[in-house]
Amino acid sequence: MSRKVKFSIIIPMYNEEAVIQETYRRLKKVMSSTGQTYELLFINDGSKDRSAKIIEEYGYWDETVKLIDFSRNFGHQIAITAGMDYASGDAVIIIDADLQDPPELILQMIEKWQEGFEVVYATRGKRNGESRFKIWSASAFYRILRASTDIDIPVDTGDFRLMDRKVVDQMKRLPENNRFVRGLVSWVGFRQTSIMYERDERLAGETKYPLRRMIKLCLDGITSFSYKPLKLAGYMGAALSGIGFLFLLYVLYLAIFTHATMKGWPSLMGIMLIFNGFILVMLGILGEYVGRIYDETKGRPLYIVRDAYGFAAETANSAG
Ligand code: UDP
Ligand code: MG
Repeated sequence: MSRKVKFSIIIPMYNEEAVIQETYRRLKKVMSSTGQTYELLFINDGSKDRSAKIIEEYGYWDETVKLIDFSRNFGHQIAITAGMDYASGDAVIIIDADLQDPPELILQMIEKWQEGFEVVYATRGKRNGESRFKIWSASAFYRILRASTDIDIPVDTGDFRLMDRKVVDQMKRLPENNRFVRGLVSWVGFRQTSIMYERDERLAGETKYPLRRMIKLCLDGITSFSYKPLKLAGYMGAALSGIGFLFLLYVLYLAIFTHATMKGWPSLMGIMLIFNGFILVMLGILGEYVGRIYDETKGRPLYIVRDAYGFAAETANSAG
């Protein structure tokens, strides 16, 4: 148990009983081929199925298996954060439980790490077998995010990545609640590189990221890294008053130099609807920020662990 762990694999799972056995098998195969010590750190994010039970049982006879069992569903980003808190390896790898991220790629990541890179992220070249809507919405997600934030977040790149211990230690200093982990990794810096891969279909089960959660993640990403949406009100306001002023000059001109009268109702109505709509949208954007400020001021812990299996007593208490 006291052997130093070289690699920590973080696997968040939410109702993944259909795939988790195969994931375990594939990871086991890849990691034992490295000939190094490793731990498989499963985070059960409040699954309602047997996912946690299956992993707990593996833990009885496989000492590389560790399990953090959340008290409820806290969300994917929080689950991988907990993984980083508990991981003890020199390099930490985050991977999805559904085998959409091929475990074999970890070997390439490790190579890059040995060349001296501190973050190796996996960029999706092609996505196989996902619905057109998912592909389109994911692509829009990364591009909106890129356009609206000030830091350089790589496009088409999920959380599948390797991070050096130095990076993980810095990540653990970031306390924010509404987390967008891949943005935070870009934010901490260090030497980063990418490798390309083809993203496969989910082995079984269905996506745990419906549109609603994608939107939440996108908003977390934007609000965590940019004030641009807030500035929008200022720019739009300035532009609109400019146009309004020109229009006023035109109206004055008509009134003073001609006998034409302006027809009022439709244009007034149109302008009112546009402006009121715009004001409400801006209030909504403001609300997104204020809500997040409120979340941070409450200072609640990011997650609650019901049980942690497979950890020596000290580490289990010191983390989280
Ligand atoms: N996941 C999680 N908590 C959640 C939602 C998802 O831990 O609330 C895990 C899930 O089990 C999987 C990973 O996050 O290992 C990615 O989720 P999913 O494959 O459903 O997302 P997609 O690949 O469709 O974007
Ligand atoms: Mg998936």
